[in-house]
Amino acid sequence: MSESINCIEENSNIDRGSILYLVVPCYNEEEVIITSSQKMKDKMQRLVNNGFISPKSKIMFVNDGSKDNTWKIIHALCKADNIFSGLSFSRNYGHQSAILAGMLTARQYADMVVTIDADLQQDIEALDEFIKCYNDGCEIVYGVRNDRDTDGFFKKTTATLFYKIMHILGCNVLSNHADYRLLSKKALDALAEHNEVNLFLRGLIPTMGFQSDVVYFDVKEREAGKSKYTLKKMMTLAVDGITSMSTRPIQIITLIGFFVSLFSVIMIIYCIWDWFSGHNVPGYTTTLVVSLLMGGLTIFSLGIVGEYVGKIYLEAKARPRYIVESFIWKEGDTLDFSNSYSDKEGVDLQ
Ligand code: UDP
Ligand code: MG
Repeated sequence: MSESINCIEENSNIDRGSILYLVVPCYNEEEVIITSSQKMKDKMQRLVNNGFISPKSKIMFVNDGSKDNTWKIIHALCKADNIFSGLSFSRNYGHQSAILAGMLTARQYADMVVTIDADLQQDIEALDEFIKCYNDGCEIVYGVRNDRDTDGFFKKTTATLFYKIMHILGCNVLSNHADYRLLSKKALDALAEHNEVNLFLRGLIPTMGFQSDVVYFDVKEREAGKSKYTLKKMMTLAVDGITSMSTRPIQIITLIGFFVSLFSVIMIIYCIWDWFSGHNVPGYTTTLVVSLLMGGLTIFSLGIVGEYVGKIYLEAKARPRYIVESFIWKEGDTLDFSNSYSDKEGVDLQ
């Protein structure tokens, strides 16, 4: 890792001019997006000035069906400055769909794409290291957070538990990697070949292989607004993650079923033996406990199998993973303001 960083200065000259697209999913982010966009722009311009990236690089916002003024602000940003571009969904499709749409759209224009959250909790200064790894030949660079100090007790515990379960289920997921990552054009082309509706990019991308590296970064507090990851969204992501990456829960059910059946056979033999020896079989409590246990286990197992059947149902229907309602993109360098522009309504930033 440190070796790769040391090589960067020389190699950055080789790949000088690679076009970087920063893909930013946004859901009801009106409180942070103006500040964040300025910080992103400053960083991108520093990278252009240092010759790290091409002046054709851009910041692409993906409005994930926000109900507030997020899209209007994105619209105004794009109108004011070539460096910004944006696409807007017809409704809220979720974080995973938003970053996928951004990456697949940016793929047409970019040599590499980095996905980052709109609240900039992820340290944007880590971009230098991402680009250095890319220049060293990595097709994928994973951002991994140094710690979870900014998370509350509940989020920290559930996240740690989730990664533990994923590892037990045999999924190749990097702990504490949260969709802050770089993908090269080659990796994006490979990602575009995957048509699955049940999306869990943190699990899917590592299965593609390619030369990759890890960059560690600090996580800051959210500057304004609330987390858009509600408990329901977190649970959905966790279930999507498990069902899209592993069929081990079904194997575990089979294993439990086998041992329960084995135990039942032993109990049947014991009861028959007891009956022939003329003893009374103690009845009510045991029967009730066993039927409740079996009923619970059966419904729980059906539920797990049902989750997989539900996912197959969604995959079979193969509905679009998202619908893009508007797209704003302007030709030219980030410092070129002369190009024509057209789209629906705009808004003043004041
Ligand atoms: N996000 C999104 N769609 C959603 C929920 C979240 O595009 O349905 C975006 C959100 O705007 C942000 C990123 O995903 O850019 C991460 O969300 P957030 O910062 O709220 O999550 P947290 O950091 O609390 O895990
Ligand atoms: Mg956040």
